[in-house]
Formats: sequence, C-alpha cells, structure tokens
Amino acid sequence: VWNNCLSFIKDNIQPQAFKTWFEPIKPIKLSDNALSVQVPSKFFYEWLEEHYVKLLKVSLTKELGETAKLVYIIKMENTYGNREPFTEKIPSANRSRVEPQELDVAIKSKNPELKNPFVIPGIRNIKIESQLNPNYSFDNFLEGDANRLARSAGMAVANKPGGTSFNPLLIFGGVGLGKTHLVHAIGVEIKDKYPEKTVLYISAEKFTQQYIESVKKNTRNDFIHFYQLIDVLVIDDVQFLSGKSGTQDVFFHIFNHLHQNGKQVILTSDKAPVDMQDIEQRLLSRFKWGLSAELQTPGYETRISILKNKLYRDGVEMPEEIIEYVAKHIKSNIRELEGAIISLIAQSSFNKKEVTLELAQFVVEKFVKNTKREVSIDYIQKVVSDYFEMDVSTLQSKTRKRHIVQARQLAMFFAKKFTKASLASIGSQIGKRDHATVLHACKTVDNLAETDKQFKKYIEDLSKKFS
Ligand code: ADP
Ligand code: MG
Repeated sequence: VWNNCLSFIKDNIQPQAFKTWFEPIKPIKLSDNALSVQVPSKFFYEWLEEHYVKLLKVSLTKELGETAKLVYIIKMENTYGNREPFTEKIPSANRSRVEPQELDVAIKSKNPELKNPFVIPGIRNIKIESQLNPNYSFDNFLEGDANRLARSAGMAVANKPGGTSFNPLLIFGGVGLGKTHLVHAIGVEIKDKYPEKTVLYISAEKFTQQYIESVKKNTRNDFIHFYQLIDVLVIDDVQFLSGKSGTQDVFFHIFNHLHQNGKQVILTSDKAPVDMQDIEQRLLSRFKWGLSAELQTPGYETRISILKNKLYRDGVEMPEEIIEYVAKHIKSNIRELEGAIISLIAQSSFNKKEVTLELAQFVVEKFVKNTKREVSIDYIQKVVSDYFEMDVSTLQSKTRKRHIVQARQLAMFFAKKFTKASLASIGSQIGKRDHATVLHACKTVDNLAETDKQFKKYIEDLSKKFS
C-alpha cells in the first residue's frame, strides 16, 4: 500500500523534496484501514502535516478508500530546539531580561526519549526558540557611512528573506562594530513581518558544539534535518569554523539545502572571505555567492549620534562637551564607546551630580588603556627595518636579496599578528604586494620559526617590541 502511495507522491512533488521527506518514512503496519508509518522525528511529522497533508490524504484515500487513516510513529526525539535562553550580554545600564521568542514549528519535548511508538496527539506541544534579542533592532542601529551598505542590505533581506540576491548575506568587520546587533535586527524584523517564518540565530561556536554532540549521540541526521527546516538561519562569527572540517562539512550540506530551497542564510565574520583561513574552498565560494558587506569603524559624527541615542534611551542628560570628549577619544570599537558612556552614566547617577570633564577623562583613559593599543603597519615596518639596519624603502623594495626578503616577510607576519588589517591591506601597505604574497610570507615565517634557530630569535626579539 505504502509503495503505491509513494509512487503517486513521487509523481507529484520535486525529487529533492521526495528524497528528503518521503524516503526516510518507513511503513510499519496496516490494521483497521489505518496505516502506521514511522518518521525520524517530531519536526519531521510537523513538516509533513504542514506541507504534504493533502497529498498524503489523496494518495491514501486512493489506496484505502475514504475511511483511511494515517498514524505517525516517531522513531526518536532529538533536542536541538531545546536551547538555553539567550545569553549574549546586553551592555546597557538598565539591563532587561531577554525572553527568547517562540516560533511556530519546533521540537522541544518534555519527553526526550520516546522508546515506545507514539501516536502524535492533535496539539502542538513543541517549539523552536529563535534566540533573537529584541533589544537589537534596526531602530537603535544608527546609520553612518561606515555601515550604510551593510545596514541597507540587511533591510533588503529583512523585507524579502530568501528573495534577494543577497543570499547568503555576510556581514564582516572588527570586534565591537555591530555585526551581532545587525544580524539580530534583521532576524527581529523578519519575525515581525513574517511571523510564520522560522528564524534561528546561533553562534558558530554553539552550532559546532551541537554538531559534535550529535555525532556522539548518533543523531547527526536529526541535526541536519533540524537545520534544514529553518527559513532564516543566522550564524554569527563563522570564523570560528576555521579548521573544523567536520562542522564545515555539515554546514556545507545544510547551506546547500537551504539555499536551493530559497531559504535565507545570514552570516557574520571578523574577516572578509578572501582573508579567511582554514575554511574549505567550497564553503568560501558559497559565501561569495551573495553579498559581503563590511562594517567599518564609525566616523566621529556617527559616534556622537550613537552616544546621544544611548543617553536618550536611558533618559540621561550629559553635557555636550563630555559627549564630544568621549566620541573623540574612543574610536575603534562601539562596544567600548558604549562601555565608557555607561560607566559615566553609572557614576553620575551614583553621585547624583553632573559628570565633569575630569571624570570623563579618567573613565576614557581607563577604557583606552585597557584595550591594547593596536600597533600600526607603519610602526611595524619601521621597527623591523631598524632591527635589520635597513631603510623602510629597502624593506619595501622589489629586491630578491635573501635578508631583505626575510625582513619583509617578518613585517608581513607581524602585521598579520598584531593588527586587524586584512591580508590584502597588509600587502598593499608593505610594498604593494597582493594578499597571496602576504599569506605566503606568514607561512614561510611559521616554517622558518620551527627549522631555523637564528630566525626564531629574530621573531622573539621583534615580538617583544610589539606586545
Ligand atoms: P560585534 O558583533 O561586531 O562584535 P556588536 O554587535 O556586539 O559587535 O556591537 C557592540 C555594541 O555596539 C552593541 O552594544 C551594539 O548595540 C552597539 N552598536 C554597534 N553598532 C551600532 C550602531 N550602528 N548603532 C548603535 N549601536 C551600535
Ligand atoms: Mg558579535
């Protein structure tokens, strides 16, 4: 009976969908005109009911007549939907608790190990939590030159998830520049516009942990199925997948499935795809299919508006000169900018008096000191040239003389190690080389460090000057 049903179904849906949703179903028994079939998981059942209920009914009625019944038996249960609530810190003076939003489709069960065949009751008792933080919205993601492209691409995706050419949308940029905030804002906006869509935010680190767990528990397929059900998948900090080939592999499959089915994928990373290391080529090339948009360090005006917005939202007033002072001195990281102003707000409410410029200077100094000052590429070139007693122009020159080449490679290596600059930008600043040359230099230095004692000494001496 089931085989007849299957061949009817097969003729009526996409081969890929058939493979995903019908091949894994096992017929168990037929009694009283009720066909029992086993499905791999609850969400599998949910999916079938949601998308294929008519088709199932028609095919079964054809075989068994009007009184036909279908009973689902769930083979096992998994726990991917059963996540801890959102834990990312909200750097806000009046920290509010974030309640995870609940989504329609999902798989949180009170009874994780259903050993006996289990007939699904008519009610839905399972949920996926989207893990979105509603405090991270577009409204409070202030626009500036440094984020305009990324922000508007994010808006476009939020308006039409899966329906733009920005798939995947990759947001990249340095620490504290708003990547996490922006992707949450996209997710929140999508949930708002399309409440029926399943949105899931997850860090690449969490994703990796879940994957490893699923391998241990022998539920890798359930893991994959779970992720394939999501309409909008947000993975934060994908650079974390570097060198993790198993997780990259599984992510590749999930990505392909989602992409083929018009689902939206949103990623963040601390680097542009060209600068990512130890990520499989096939994944990198997927990352480049859509749009990569950079979040750059915000300019002075944007920093001022971010501070003012923060103060406004917290209902705190602060003298203009204090705001300007903070914006002027904290440049490279919005998280620190907020940290400094929060610290000032706390001080002023604690002492019940206006913040003075002295206090601002004290607080800002603490923030600037705590964050290790980034050495510049110019400084690195100067130090390396001095060390080898040559001019910077010699270091940058095209010569192939061995000791000059080595000095140049060391400068590139240290620039990679001690600055946040991309390979491409390091290359262009150190004698107009391309990113491949820089990558090669870094590898050569790594190798020589292991094989050449004298060279190792150079690295140690120079490292001291930068850290
Ligand atoms: P990243 O993930 O890039 O390290 P986050 O998204 O965590 O950075 O942002 C750091 C902090 O800066 C957050 O509190 C965020 O709300 C704030 N922030 C970043 N960009 C903006 C912006 N454009 N407007 C307002 N706040 C911002
Ligand atoms: Mg982040």
